[in-house]
Amino acid sequence: MERKKIQYAGEQTKAIHAGEFPDPATKASAPNIVMSTTFVVDADTGFSVEEMDEDSTWVYTRWGNPTVRQLEEKLAAIEEAESAIAFASGMGAVTALLFHLLKAGDHAVISDVAYAALSEITNELIPALGIEITKVNTSDTGAVSAAIRSNTKLIYVETPCNPILRITDIAAVAAIARKAGAKLAVDSTFATPIATKPLQLGADFVIHSLTKYLCGHGDALGGVLLGGKNDLALLRRKTSIRLGGTISPFNAWLIIRGLATLPLRMRVHQENAMQIASYLEQHHEIKRVIYPGLPSHPQYELIKRQMKNFSGIVTFQVKDKRNIKKIAEKLQIIHYAVSLGHHRSLIFYLDSGDLLQTSFKFDDPEQYDSWNDFAGEGIFRLSAGLENAEDLIADLEQALD
Ligand SMILES: *Cc1c(COP(=O)(O)O)cnc(C)c1O
Repeated sequence: MERKKIQYAGEQTKAIHAGEFPDPATKASAPNIVMSTTFVVDADTGFSVEEMDEDSTWVYTRWGNPTVRQLEEKLAAIEEAESAIAFASGMGAVTALLFHLLKAGDHAVISDVAYAALSEITNELIPALGIEITKVNTSDTGAVSAAIRSNTKLIYVETPCNPILRITDIAAVAAIARKAGAKLAVDSTFATPIATKPLQLGADFVIHSLTKYLCGHGDALGGVLLGGKNDLALLRRKTSIRLGGTISPFNAWLIIRGLATLPLRMRVHQENAMQIASYLEQHHEIKRVIYPGLPSHPQYELIKRQMKNFSGIVTFQVKDKRNIKKIAEKLQIIHYAVSLGHHRSLIFYLDSGDLLQTSFKFDDPEQYDSWNDFAGEGIFRLSAGLENAEDLIADLEQALD
């Protein structure tokens, strides 16, 4: 399967062409989907993944698949990573990484506010395996340094973090990780590679939920882990293939199609989010708006250094909590639904009391102060879609009325 790798300079060109090639048999210009789970092989083909390498022929789709490989190559090109492994979901990518890096007796430092499922497995399931976890506010680099132990193997950050849009200085935490001999993993789902490239800032691994902006259309779950070639080759053999969180080739094909327009979409997500955030900020019913593109974001200086695009998520607090249900029910264009990063605008209310009970565990009063600073009693998390901004603002206007 020899084919030459072309280097594309521009982000839009990469998003469209990287990883793809006309089908050798039919000359089809658009990628084919290969749904086959098994492949006809030579009689001397081995039955162990230990013998597998990058150039091996296709054997079984859990080990590797031509459509999934096209997705992985496109993602690696866009993120400027040596290598990528796609998974069935963002959480599939996260768990494969945790099982790869951590064993009983090891310690990991994890963002105290991060995607709820990651927070929840690191509260219970992972510690039950004999792995020590410390939750810190990773936007406070002093707190990260103070949490390091001799057995710290991993620092895990999410920036901007879900759901409160707090930012972590990736280069600063990468320096702490390097000194400690620990790996740094960054969940960059909210930023996307259009805004931030954590590997260039010193991270060892990047995670995206492909379900969000990278697919962009709300119709396929997926995840990806990106990093160095040797690390990921080992991870693919030891963890990903065996744990089995393999993405369906059909989902890979949908996400390849979504990725082609990622650079274009992120521009409009940012434009719409900026207009909505500015509108909400001056609305008399709104207490607080957080958006990385607003100078009122508490970390605006860091954001300007670290993010080339402010992405499309806005959070806001309402003055009167009794209006929450009414606002959710009155919206007509914006769907009241979880998830984010789709072409359709989505909104969901996240109550602080509920989240601090189920998902986020803070030991230090400073952690509560920081949460309150960003989220107060609770936030609407709005994912600005690709509709016309004036329609979205009109929808919010009638719902807030
Ligand atoms: C959605 C999300 C995940 C999990 O992704 P799934 O594809 O739903 O498994 C992880 N991290 C962040 C920041 C997310 O928003």
